[in-house]
Amino acid sequence: MDRRLFFQNSSLVAAGAVAGCAAPGVAQQQAKTPFPVVGTYIPIVGTDEMFPVRRIYCIGRNYAAHAREMGSDPSREPPFFFQKPTDAIQHVPTGAVADHPYPTLTKNYHYEAELVACLSRGGRNIPVGSALDCVYGYTLGLDMTRRDLQRAMGDEKKPWEIGKSFDHSAVIGAVHKLAQSGHFTQGAIWLKVNGAIKQNANLNQMIWSVAEQIAKLSEANELFPGDIIYSGTPENVGPVVRGDVIEMHIDGLPRLSVKIV
Ligand code: MN
Repeated sequence: MDRRLFFQNSSLVAAGAVAGCAAPGVAQQQAKTPFPVVGTYIPIVGTDEMFPVRRIYCIGRNYAAHAREMGSDPSREPPFFFQKPTDAIQHVPTGAVADHPYPTLTKNYHYEAELVACLSRGGRNIPVGSALDCVYGYTLGLDMTRRDLQRAMGDEKKPWEIGKSFDHSAVIGAVHKLAQSGHFTQGAIWLKVNGAIKQNANLNQMIWSVAEQIAKLSEANELFPGDIIYSGTPENVGPVVRGDVIEMHIDGLPRLSVKIV
């Protein structure tokens, strides 16, 4: 990077910091690069705009019955979070049954149906009381998981990244703006495989609400516009194989469907 660009970028970063809502990396978009890198975008329902995804955060064990089935105590211990790479997003258009590739390396590939909060504001140490002001809208998604690898790595006290953070592992629907969807504090969340109900719960069974998740996450990392949060899955996660069709639903959002191929 030559000096002129360096100074130019410095001033852009500074301007962003003053504005308080520009993500780091804005200045890099001005940089000359030897090849293009594609960004990750999700359609926004009712507009011709796309939601730009900055980071994908996921909360673990956020429904008591699911925490128990994963072998842990569902008491209200502090929440924990992990990330998926941004380009792990697989957007599924409303009404479609998208092909979802069965990943390599696993023999126990699991679905996890989840509400996803999409942020247009961020910050550090955000109070619970104002956390929902950060939410731009919501959608629904599947936190797809190589369960065998997640468990094996956990048993060996290694990072479980290979079980959670791989290509196509963040299946997601279109973003619904807050004005269309409202906030989600209750309502049915269910998932079927080949028409048979597998997961069936209520969003009000979350241990940590979306507002609490935003507040807690912002203690660990500064949050920025474009960050999205998978808010955890209810109990009865389970395996799929090639040929299976997953259909998931959250009250107030259109259904999401994929076929495992
Ligand atoms: Mn999950």
